[in-house]
Amino acid sequence: MKRTSREWDQWMLGLAGYAATGSKDPSTKVGAVTVSSLDQRKLSLGYNGFPPGIADDGRLEDRAMKYQITRHAEENALSNATFDTRGGTLYCTVHPCVRCTREILMKGIRRVVTRPLPPIVPGRWTEEIPLAQLLLAEAGVEVVVIGEDCGGADKANSEDRKEDGAEARAGDPRGGGPREVLDSKPQEERAVAEGEAGSPGEQLPGYRS
Ligand SMILES: [Zn+2]
Repeated sequence: MKRTSREWDQWMLGLAGYAATGSKDPSTKVGAVTVSSLDQRKLSLGYNGFPPGIADDGRLEDRAMKYQITRHAEENALSNATFDTRGGTLYCTVHPCVRCTREILMKGIRRVVTRPLPPIVPGRWTEEIPLAQLLLAEAGVEVVVIGEDCGGADKANSEDRKEDGAEARAGDPRGGGPREVLDSKPQEERAVAEGEAGSPGEQLPGYRS
């Protein structure tokens, strides 16, 4: 039986998840897969880490230092591609940051498939991710968000996004707006939601803080 495009998306995202396990970053592991628009057997993998020649030493424990040195999973997947990435798809376990979005646009990627954002996006990412979403939308890159499973959780997310998306489109003078937008709840409400979940302050998987 032929796989649906949704099934391929799930499989590729799973592959990005496996690529993430290659990262030597002790707190943040992100994975990405670039796939050719012409042939999905042409793909490349990437995970976050220091560039070649730089030792994976104590600098991995120093957040400020680590942030300056680390190449992101998306950057690595894109630079590892030995095929024409124009028109292709990038799968990533976390929504791309602004830095990676620049590379995504430079390389002509037309579609990004990623996981839902966690209820609370830490620190600087609260500004970074919405900007990345806006840039992708402005450039006409399709963003698809797929949950960890195809069941109820995924459906619930798409319901939430429908409401958020309607708000975003209404306020967007271009009439477009990002296809997937951040949870528009104020920070306080998100904090309450997290408190209810019983895990305040917990390290969010996949997020570089
Ligand atoms: Zn990035």
